[in-house]
Amino acid sequence: MKASVCIIGSGYSAAALTLHLLTRGMPADQLAIIGPGQLGQGQAYGCVSNDFRLNVRAGLMRLWPDRPDHFAEWAATHITDDPDAGTNAGNFFRRRDFAAYMADQLASFPAMADISRHEQLAESISKGTEGWQITLGNGAALDASRVVIATGNPAPDWPMKVPPADAPGLVRVPWRGDWPERVAPDAEVVIIGGGLTALDALHSLHRRAHDGAISLICPEGMLPPVQTDWQDATPLQWPTPLRGTGFLRFMRQEIGDQDWSRTEWQRRFESLRVNISAAWQSLPEDDQARLIRRIGWLWSLARFRAGPQATGSAQALLDSGQLTIRRDIVTGLTAGADTARHLVSLGTGARIEADAVINCSGAGRDRLMARLIGDGVVAAHQTAPRRPRMTADLTLVGPDGTPHDGLFAIGPGTAHFVGDILGAASISRQAATLAERLAADT
Ligand SMILES: Cc1cc2nc3c(=O)[nH]c(=O)nc-3n(C[C@H](O)[C@H](O)[C@H](O)COP(=O)(O)OP(=O)(O)OC[C@H]3O[C@@H](n4cnc5c(N)ncnc54)[C@H](O)[C@@H]3O)c2cc1C
Repeated sequence: MKASVCIIGSGYSAAALTLHLLTRGMPADQLAIIGPGQLGQGQAYGCVSNDFRLNVRAGLMRLWPDRPDHFAEWAATHITDDPDAGTNAGNFFRRRDFAAYMADQLASFPAMADISRHEQLAESISKGTEGWQITLGNGAALDASRVVIATGNPAPDWPMKVPPADAPGLVRVPWRGDWPERVAPDAEVVIIGGGLTALDALHSLHRRAHDGAISLICPEGMLPPVQTDWQDATPLQWPTPLRGTGFLRFMRQEIGDQDWSRTEWQRRFESLRVNISAAWQSLPEDDQARLIRRIGWLWSLARFRAGPQATGSAQALLDSGQLTIRRDIVTGLTAGADTARHLVSLGTGARIEADAVINCSGAGRDRLMARLIGDGVVAAHQTAPRRPRMTADLTLVGPDGTPHDGLFAIGPGTAHFVGDILGAASISRQAATLAERLAADT
């Protein structure tokens, strides 16, 4: 049977869209979901380690936009075995507990059983006479009137031109948190990258009383600031019309010249973020590209603050001299042939030997989107050529510039166009808006 809506992806974005569709009366038997694993977990929350925590406090993990405290209230009654969650910046629960929350929310809709579920990867999408045809990894084909791509954060690739062969001690995809137990306590560890995944790795190693030296290599040479207990962000109206220079000026003027570790700095930053998507979309594409080149790295550091637990571990490792942060990039990684040692080459020419190398360099390439662009189904974005061209209502655009009828995307894969759509709360708002439209057209 042809689905009315087929969602490609099985992570948080897909689950949020499903829930918002069901609450808007979309019949479950008209829905199909393609993607491996338990719906709602994905790369972010399908995590087995107790040391990998949410990087925002519970009150900001908002699945239901009209019930902002829902997860925090659920956690208060359901998470009774996590004495380490509480901090002076709020409760930062384990990521796997958020997956349990999502499972609980999905289970509260008995109609979920009527959804056609395909635990496969979607390989390609083509336009049919009426609607779309999706080809799955097992060769099966599925027809749908409308398709929403929610493939999220593709698994990381090694960041160097020539990736190493798989070897014990080399962790290409660290997000599941299933690797720390394989790292010997005295192993010399190299962490590639200095963002939140690197902080997760440091926290986990510290919690396991890791004894060996840890080198963290990142171009910024610093770690993200810690979350504060900011409250009451006042939504700021961005000026219009806006160019890149005005965008920067407005940010500088609103944040002022303060220390970014302070609560007031974060409160002002969050005030800017409330309406930033509309402001970002109003910028010419060239200005967006220039801003990303100039301040993208700084934005990421300021935007993705670390939870207090992870920051505490990183600081303890720095204070004891066990952790060294090197401002550099990793250009090569050679897996040791006979021994378990690996050679890490850096941009400055230095080389480090390590027993374990953890790749915390960020999301990789979305293979489905690359295929759609390569097949000429979807046009590439002008300044982000691996990403799709799309419209403000999340419709993907064909190579001839015409928005497709019934082909959409949501989640992190839309951030190049929509702006800051990366956290659970903003994804859910985006999913709710799209669900409204899809349900109304059913
Ligand atoms: C490690 C990590 C931690 C994070 N922590 C937080 C946090 O604490 N708080 C917060 O607000 N945000 C966090 N985020 C941000 C995160 O982007 C969102 O919260 C959200 O989880 C994204 O969900 P998603 O479903 O779009 O992507 P993903 O979680 O990446 O899920 C995508 C899913 O689609 C599937 N898929 C991929 N390709 C295909 C295909 N071709 N066919 C079928 N299925 C496919 C994948 O297998 C995966 O299950 C985190 C992100 C990461 C990566």
